[in-house]
Amino acid sequence: MPKRIAILGSTGSIGTSALDLIERLNAMPQVDRPGRVREPLEVVGLAANRSIEVLIDQVRRFRPLIASVGTEALARELREEIGSGPTRVVSGEEGARQVAAMPQADLVLAGIVGAAGLGPTYAAVESGKTVALANKEALVMAGDLMLSAARRTGARLLPVDSEHNALHQCLRGERVEEVRRLVLTASGGPFFSKPDLDLSRVSPEEALAHPTWIMGRKISIDSATLMNKALEVIEAHWLYGLPAEKISVVVHPQSIVHSLVELVDGSFICQLGATDMRHPIQYALTYPERWETPLERLDLPSLGNLRFLEPDLERFPCLGLGWRALAAGGTMPVVLNAANEVAVEAFLQRRIRFSDIPQVVTSVMEAHRPEQAPSLDGILQADAWARERAGAPSPGAVSTAQKS
Ligand code: MG
Repeated sequence: MPKRIAILGSTGSIGTSALDLIERLNAMPQVDRPGRVREPLEVVGLAANRSIEVLIDQVRRFRPLIASVGTEALARELREEIGSGPTRVVSGEEGARQVAAMPQADLVLAGIVGAAGLGPTYAAVESGKTVALANKEALVMAGDLMLSAARRTGARLLPVDSEHNALHQCLRGERVEEVRRLVLTASGGPFFSKPDLDLSRVSPEEALAHPTWIMGRKISIDSATLMNKALEVIEAHWLYGLPAEKISVVVHPQSIVHSLVELVDGSFICQLGATDMRHPIQYALTYPERWETPLERLDLPSLGNLRFLEPDLERFPCLGLGWRALAAGGTMPVVLNAANEVAVEAFLQRRIRFSDIPQVVTSVMEAHRPEQAPSLDGILQADAWARERAGAPSPGAVSTAQKS
């Protein structure tokens, strides 16, 4: 039987990469080694928000059973464009949840960026799906709830985030009790190699120019501030059940080693691969099998030196906030994430400086009294509170932004 896949966030960076990969995998020989006939991957559901042109093209190419789009007006446009066919068109967050929970899907790729992905991703876990998880915010905001729902429904979480995907590969066959620590690699972002650059003066364009990975806008800024790594520390905590002190970060500018596991006996296991998000997507789509890839492979001799360096927590204070949020627990990671989303958007709109981002997030975290073991409602309330609070930055932050 073909593996049937639903994609949440199909027009975003992860969604379009996945669909490209699926077409390439399906175009490869069905017999990829003697005795094995590979079944095709079938796209049965797509959920997008506003990129209607891209979604129309995707629906025509993949003919899914359901397609969801952000608003009812866009849903009408989509229905008109595609005419009669196999695809039922739905809309809004409810529509995305329907795609996430659709009985015809075996695997749901959760690729909606940011807090908006929480509800649909949670719906996929509640429906007991195998969830290829590219939305890190779902675990950052609701790790406890997601994991207890997964235990209850038998849902399996397969991380697509390259670092956690690497850890998943390194931990195959290892015992968690024998892990000394997880080591997440960070590229360092575009400013790590420019120690003399004044971070209060960098533009959104400079911050978006990531040295190694091609990614969406929000995650590119998070990589430049190292907030992305803070979120990943929290994500790793939930995925692998290890305490904050057993999760560390090392800067690895080449982004070839995607993460490492140090075992109690002193051995390090690491995973290397080309810097292309389609590799971890392929791992998740084909798990537990491994398939021949249509993608470019690593050429070891051309890599040169691989370097590992200590992160600079003073220059990039966002990184330290990950461990701080885990130590406070409860809703603190929710607040970290929400305040950061607001601050990143404000920076992209040139309302605050790059160096204001950690200040906005820190001040919102300091004002928050975390609620322990929150419900989904409690999580959403903390999220809304933090957004409002972050949207009204301190007078100091506003005045520095106006000067620039
Ligand atoms: Mg990552």
